[in-house]
Amino acid sequence: DFLPLPDILAAHAARRGDATALVDECRRVSWRELDDITARIAAELHVAGIAPREPVALAATNSVEAALVFLGILRAGAAAALLTSSASGETVLAMLEDSTARLLFLDRAMAEKLDGLPLPAGIGRIAVDDSTGGVPLSAWLPPAGVRPEARAIAPEDPFNIIYSSGTTGTPKGIVQSHRMRHEYARRTVASGYGDETSVICSTPLYSNTTLVSFFPALMGGGKVVLMGKFDVLRFLELSQAERVTHAMLVPVQYRRIMEHPEFDRFDLSSYQLKSSTSAPFPAWLKADVLQRWPGGLLEAYGMTEGGASALLLAHEFPDKLHTVGRVAPGHIMKIIDEQGRELPQGETGEIVGHSPIMMDGYHRKQDKTREAEWFDDEGRRYIRHGDIGRFDEDGFLILMDRAKDLIISGGFNIYPTDLEAELLRLPSVREAAVVGIPSDKWGETPFAVVVPNDRAVDAQAILAEANSRLGKTQRISGIALVDELPRSPIGKVLKRELRDRFGGNPI
Ligand code: ATP
Ligand code: MG
Repeated sequence: DFLPLPDILAAHAARRGDATALVDECRRVSWRELDDITARIAAELHVAGIAPREPVALAATNSVEAALVFLGILRAGAAAALLTSSASGETVLAMLEDSTARLLFLDRAMAEKLDGLPLPAGIGRIAVDDSTGGVPLSAWLPPAGVRPEARAIAPEDPFNIIYSSGTTGTPKGIVQSHRMRHEYARRTVASGYGDETSVICSTPLYSNTTLVSFFPALMGGGKVVLMGKFDVLRFLELSQAERVTHAMLVPVQYRRIMEHPEFDRFDLSSYQLKSSTSAPFPAWLKADVLQRWPGGLLEAYGMTEGGASALLLAHEFPDKLHTVGRVAPGHIMKIIDEQGRELPQGETGEIVGHSPIMMDGYHRKQDKTREAEWFDDEGRRYIRHGDIGRFDEDGFLILMDRAKDLIISGGFNIYPTDLEAELLRLPSVREAAVVGIPSDKWGETPFAVVVPNDRAVDAQAILAEANSRLGKTQRISGIALVDELPRSPIGKVLKRELRDRFGGNPI
């Protein structure tokens, strides 16, 4: 039942006509326009000599134009190399080289970041926002009505190259095929996406977190609301104005939305389901969202590499909010020990996963691919998640932490996520991260880095209050107040930077 994405979109365009397909702060395009513009982009890519399956790079903030270019690349039968546009110019350049793309679509902000850096020779640049960073998109586009030659798309053809978040090290390129993208979207669309679906994408299009809601919306024939820069008030206004039904947000966004003083002023009754993924989502915050924000709440746990996913419909399982849910249908998850042996049900260890959305390997990184693989007794291939967890007696996954962030103190395993959840409960704490730092006495000990809500707050009081709620072996030894936490572009806390900064002197 595989149908290439461009064929699905063309069918919706014929049916939906003037209905909105994409909207941002500046522009609204209908399904008919989406069809015309993506056809023209594809036709011109063919004129430019782009071969089937060839990577074409996109590095731009979310906008209607960026989304159209993405879809146009796919329609040309090429692969979209989605570069992390909010990263530094050097990082984007490394990704561009890694992708081997010969053509780069970018916006003004990206062009400014790349200014003065040695771009690969002969690279073509097209400015999606018509800025001076390249040939203006509007001038590059052929006239309305131009159609591309038909190119067959096979399920295993590359859909996009996407980069992992770079939370634990250098971002890794991952090739996702058309089949994988379908597999992601199929179940979501079947869960009720249709003409009335209105999805708001406030995380960047280069992240899998965003794509898992962007594509189902379009494949279902609905509408996507694109936000370039996330702003809580604008998010709430757009949600109301565009009758948003679905949003995929990361936990730090939920926190900021729920604590906004005007939250209760907005009519959010159009919401059917909100989702969260990519970082720990404290149980108390899930409960708050369920209570005050209409519609259901889905937490998804997974990785860009697509090992396997777990899903929690929080509104159906209010007593399981401390978990990330059950393994998605058709996916397999196992728990292994440090020697790579499978552990019995209920024991704690590293998560490995096998699924239809699993990557073949990292783009041009064979050694990294080997390191990430695990095989069961029957020789079935799994991806190592690098996360620690265990299944409860009902088959719900309790996610502990990333293996790299685990703190081993005096022989006890301490999971920073637990400590962060307690810190975040305190009204004086806006953001919190706990890392292990060297300790002469314990080997390692937890250290809290906190962004306070008020500069005048007493750090030692925060520490005392958090420690009074934590178990004896979990006590936090030290605390530092900072103005902001180092975060990856998708909003994940970069703990390796905190360890470097605060782990220098043993305590
Ligand atoms: P890199 O692999 O480059 O270091 P990354 O692992 O953050 O970066 P992603 O593929 O974007 O890259 O993220 C997957 C990881 O995000 C998972 O391995 C897990 O640690 C974390 N994660 C995903 N979903 C959840 C969730 N629901 N709750 C907690 N953590 C999650
Ligand atoms: Mg990872």
